[in-house]
Amino acid sequence: MTDYDYDLFVIGAGSGGVRAARIAAEHGARVAIAEDDKVGGTCVVRGCVPKKLFVHSAHFAEALEDSVGFGWTTTGVTFDWPTLRDNVNADTTWLSGIYVRNLERSGAQLIRARATIAGPHSVRLSGSDRPVTARYILIATGGRPATDPTIDGFEHGIVSDDAFHLERLPDRIVIVGGGYIALEFAGIFNAFGVDTTVVHRGRDILRGFDADIRRAVHGALEGRGINVVCDETISHIERKTDGLTVSTSAGKQLNAGQVLFAIGRTPNTTGIGLEDAGVALGADGRIEVDAYSRTNVESIFAVGDVTGRVQLTPVAIREGSAVADTLFGGRPTAVSHHLIPTAVFTQPEVGTVGLTEEAAKAAHDAVDIYKASFKPLHHRIAGREERMLIKLIVDGEGDRVLGFHAIGAGAAEMAQLVAIPLKMGATKADFDATVALHPTQSEEIVTMTKPVERYRAAMALPEPAK
Ligand code: FAD
Ligand code: NDP
Repeated sequence: MTDYDYDLFVIGAGSGGVRAARIAAEHGARVAIAEDDKVGGTCVVRGCVPKKLFVHSAHFAEALEDSVGFGWTTTGVTFDWPTLRDNVNADTTWLSGIYVRNLERSGAQLIRARATIAGPHSVRLSGSDRPVTARYILIATGGRPATDPTIDGFEHGIVSDDAFHLERLPDRIVIVGGGYIALEFAGIFNAFGVDTTVVHRGRDILRGFDADIRRAVHGALEGRGINVVCDETISHIERKTDGLTVSTSAGKQLNAGQVLFAIGRTPNTTGIGLEDAGVALGADGRIEVDAYSRTNVESIFAVGDVTGRVQLTPVAIREGSAVADTLFGGRPTAVSHHLIPTAVFTQPEVGTVGLTEEAAKAAHDAVDIYKASFKPLHHRIAGREERMLIKLIVDGEGDRVLGFHAIGAGAAEMAQLVAIPLKMGATKADFDATVALHPTQSEEIVTMTKPVERYRAAMALPEPAK
């Protein structure tokens, strides 16, 4: 190993890169990690953490509204955007500092520079003429928000990175997209009093989620005053003296102070020398890797969003950790992407793990569906009409629980916990054998006794030809 400057050179100090660097250094490897922005990456600086803090702030709007029925008087309460924005950005700066200290403590060398690959074992650094060499290179450069240059005037729009730094809140916002970021920010802006419209190109929002959840989120967003426009795209954005005018494919004209593009993320694979090393890319620009996160080049690995597998922080962390264990821990480790819990932090929030009803019916001959839809105790006094939905998808033959889906307060925390028995292969009988904890919302998970549907593939015969 001593022929190289380092055993491992990591490009990008985000969730995946930092974890890989730390674990590799703790295994005794000589590690360097390059970062040309704030250490911590998307999650810490412009993603999960500041977003979740905004969501916490948004919850106060709901709590204040609900508190009246519980005897509170809230007149005179106001919201100050600059206070929130500055406190949140100060917090992410503090957290980024913790990441730096943890890296230093592990023994990894942090290099503040932009890194590009010069060959299978060689990396160039901005501000330096001499390439450094490493036995292995790990690409953990993440992604960046996509926009749509085919839209006339797209340059007037902002992306999620910008949403954390707005000088002032707009009176109105148009959000393009119907995925995680679009809907989370719709909830945030709406709670802060911004007139919010979501424009989504598909038939309904949150493609890939369970159909009941998609419907419930759509209804809840509208119930809270968010205008959700589906089956439409943006064709034109024009800057006028008093703001932006957005034209949609159906001929609508929407006025807005800001237009936020939340239409997915593009992997950071251009201009980093991948072609010099012969690293193969997928059609959408992501780096192709095997189960051990190895690219087609023996000495080069890639983890996290840049590989476009599952764009979630805990997944990037797992993948980074697995690469370090594989290369330096004497434990070849492939990451399982099966049964990853996920949440959408809308108001109300969504938590899910495992198969949707649709996917289960496509993969299994027998599927039992259990649903509990109810008005939480808290809502009765608060005067809130929203219902909580909890849904279990069960294999009708083996009784194994295949999926859990929930919308309502605490759904994200539930999904994390339900992921454990699902990963262990728990059956519906195991859930039934568990005593409920009362009064909670999650008690419904173990008290749903009768399926609302027993799907059997043999029953789903095609329509006879006419
Ligand atoms: P990143 O964290 O993006 O890190 C990549 C790093 O590489 C960056 O710091 C970048 O500056 C650096 N870099 C790039 N190129 C170079 C170069 N050439 N040289 C040096 N450095 C370079 N996930 C969740 O699980 N839960 C959430 O609630 C959640 N919320 C999100 C909210 C938003 C608004 C966004 C945008 C994302 C959210 N995510 C969430 C997704 C999560 O942030 C990403 O999946 C995760 O950060 C990916 O980690 P990564 O290590 O692959 O990349
Ligand atoms: P998503 O993939 O979640 O959603 C993208 C949305 O944009 C989809 O509704 C998609 O529609 C739509 N879209 C894509 N391209 C276009 C286009 N050209 N014009 C109009 N609409 C378009 O991506 P996000 O940007 O919301 O988030 C990126 C990723 O970050 C997420 O996938 C997730 O992995 C992660 N993330 C996780 C969070 C969490 O864990 N809570 C929070 C935020 C982000 P269609 O469905 O038709 O493809």
